[in-house]
Amino acid sequence: MSSFKSLLLLITISFLTFSCAQNKQKNEGTTKIQAIEKKPISTPDEAISELTSGNNRFVLNQLVKTNYQEQIESSKKKQTPHSVILSCMDSRVPPEIIFDQGIGNIFAIRIAGNIEDENVIGSMEYAVEHAGSKLIVVMGHSHCGAVSGALKNIESGHLTQLVNQIKPAIPQVRDQAEVTEITAKNNVKLTIQDILNQSEIIKELVDSGKIKIVGAFYDVETGKVLF
Ligand SMILES: [Zn+2]
Repeated sequence: MSSFKSLLLLITISFLTFSCAQNKQKNEGTTKIQAIEKKPISTPDEAISELTSGNNRFVLNQLVKTNYQEQIESSKKKQTPHSVILSCMDSRVPPEIIFDQGIGNIFAIRIAGNIEDENVIGSMEYAVEHAGSKLIVVMGHSHCGAVSGALKNIESGHLTQLVNQIKPAIPQVRDQAEVTEITAKNNVKLTIQDILNQSEIIKELVDSGKIKIVGAFYDVETGKVLF
C-alpha cells in the first residue's frame, strides 16, 4: 500500500471512531435528561407533599438513588427550589438529607435555634419573590442545644443575644420534663409570627395564597418530621 493510501485509511478510521464516540455521548446525554425529569411543583401543598414523602423515604431508608453529577448538570444554569427551610445548625438536622432532596430542590437556611433576623428574612424574600419557592418551613428539633442554652440562661460572647431571642418561647411552668421540647415548638411558632410581622412581602404572598409558611418539628431520635 502506498503511503498516501495508508494515510487516507488512517484518516477514515479515525473519523469513523470519532463519530461513533460522539453518537454514544449524545445517546447517553438523552438518557440522563430523561432519567432526571421530575414532576414540577407549582403549589404550596405540592411542596408539603414532596417534603413529607421525602422524609418518609428517609425514615424508611428508601432514599431515591441520587446522582449528584446529574443534578449538578440539570441545575447549573437555573435553580427553582420549591421550598425554603429555616432550620437549626445542629449537625443532626441537615434538611437536604432528612427530606431526601439532593441538589437544587430546596433553599436551606441554617442558624442555631432556627431563629430569624433581617438577613434570614431577606433570604426568604429572595426565595419566594424572585426564585419561585412556594413554601417556607420553620423547623425546630428535639434535643436542641440553643433551646437548652436559653433555658440555662447561657451567657457567653455573641451566644448571649442568640439565646435571648429564644427566651420568649419558654413556658411559664419551667419545672416539667418536656420543657425543652415545648420551648422548641413555641420558638417555631414565635419565629413564624416574627417573620410575618417583619416582612410585608412574605405576608402578602401568604395572605394571597400564593405561598404557605408552616412550622415543623424534627425528632433526632427517629428521623421523623412532623408538620
Ligand atoms: Zn438546635
